Amino acid sequence: MQYEVIIGLEIHAQLLTDSKMFCGCSTVFGSEPNTQTCPVCIGMPGVLPVINKKAIKYVIKTGLAVNCEISSYSRFARKNYFYPDLPKGYQISQYELPLCEGGYVEITVNGSTKKIGLTRIHLEEDAGKNIHEGAGNYSLVDLNRAGVPLMEIVTEPDIRTPEEASKFMKKLRVILRHIDVCDGNMEQGSLRCDANVSVRPYGQKEFGVKTEIKNMNSFKFIEKALDYEIRRQIKVLKDRGKIIQETRLWDSTKGITESMRSKEEAHDYRYFPEPDLVPVEVDGSWIAEIKAQLVELPDSRQQRFIKQYGLPEYDADLLTSERAVAEWFEGAVKLGGDPKTVSNWMMGELMRLLNEENKQIEECGLKPVQFVGLLKLIDKGTISGKIAKAVFEEMYKTGKNPDTIVKEKGLIQITDEADIEKVINEVLEKNPKEVERFRAGEEKLMGFFVGQIMKATKGKANPKIVNELLKKKLLT
Ligand code: ADP
Ligand code: ZN
Ligand code: MG
Repeated sequence: MQYEVIIGLEIHAQLLTDSKMFCGCSTVFGSEPNTQTCPVCIGMPGVLPVINKKAIKYVIKTGLAVNCEISSYSRFARKNYFYPDLPKGYQISQYELPLCEGGYVEITVNGSTKKIGLTRIHLEEDAGKNIHEGAGNYSLVDLNRAGVPLMEIVTEPDIRTPEEASKFMKKLRVILRHIDVCDGNMEQGSLRCDANVSVRPYGQKEFGVKTEIKNMNSFKFIEKALDYEIRRQIKVLKDRGKIIQETRLWDSTKGITESMRSKEEAHDYRYFPEPDLVPVEVDGSWIAEIKAQLVELPDSRQQRFIKQYGLPEYDADLLTSERAVAEWFEGAVKLGGDPKTVSNWMMGELMRLLNEENKQIEECGLKPVQFVGLLKLIDKGTISGKIAKAVFEEMYKTGKNPDTIVKEKGLIQITDEADIEKVINEVLEKNPKEVERFRAGEEKLMGFFVGQIMKATKGKANPKIVNELLKKKLLT
């Protein structure tokens, strides 16, 4: 029997606000435990939460970027459960009335686009973190993360393969980073994803029983965990067993999912409206203002790059995967760089160097203005294309101007015909046999001679002049 796979994702994204969701504590990552806390976020009695306006704005921004309906009226709710990292005994979240509903994200699979529907986006606060490291029979709790604003994005069960799931996550990450609401760091947990998955025989109308997989902190793990879980479910059904609705954990070292808790053990959260917060009423004019400030989104930027600069789709896709990369590209083009030439250098040399150091483009000292300076030196014939690669790397490492590097290292291209002729003569004199063979018709030896001349000039001879003069010499 053939089975169809159904997947729906629940994504948590930490918002890039400076302060927490309901108090003024800092959200900076990696500080000493419990140094970023106050009576509000550690749940002292008698305190009152105050809504962080920027967090609301970021969720609206996200909603607009992924085609949601923004609710003019929404409400916070208490989600009750007991856990040591949750001092209040409840998490402030949203339940029946989330900030955003509907919407979709477009992904490209096997060359065609597919819309993945969104159910809702709501706002909530993060919990603290339990640390089980000490030697003793105890655990520690760090509440720095307690109260940090989290946005939860829930998809419709529209995803059909593990590949689509990871494509969706990648696309969402690109969008969130583009609009500057989340840093997308999956390793540090600022972007996390739980996957709901079920299988059903093709043709069956009802969905099968689903399991929920937690703890996947990379695109690779999302695909692997889903792959494993789908195989497991199909095997259970083929063996005439039943899928139990449960939460499973992905173990990346073992490469399997393991049962964490079944539906019977699931929490009853006893949601109710948060009595300490007034409902959120969002003005249409505020939504319009946020919409007007929204930056160009990756998909439309990609299409524009194709049209405006005549770039191939592949280039446009790569160059719009990060906002800073797209801006670097356009910066260089505005300064006079030829779009395809700029793209080739960026996708080749620049990405290679950045990847080697695992760096983002913002962190590199090489700016578009210096890079375009290099392109001009090539165009003018001051340096050869080959030398330019070395200069590029030097610029990348030192942040120096190309002219400075070329002068310091004596890399100026030799274009003086007399100088080049001298070198050619030397090379020909040293290789009389090859000259004879060439003249007897072995024309491919041309490459050998050019190579020798470039070697003798340390790559600085102008290749065009070398070729012209060499031909003249050899054929007369
Ligand atoms: P729950 O009541 O368990 O929270 P929801 O209906 O709220 O389930 O859905 C949670 C997530 O699971 C959503 O992303 C939804 O698309 C997905 N989902 C719901 N039912 C299924 C199913 N049978 N198979 C796979 N995913 C599902
Ligand atoms: Zn606080
Ligand atoms: Mg639900």
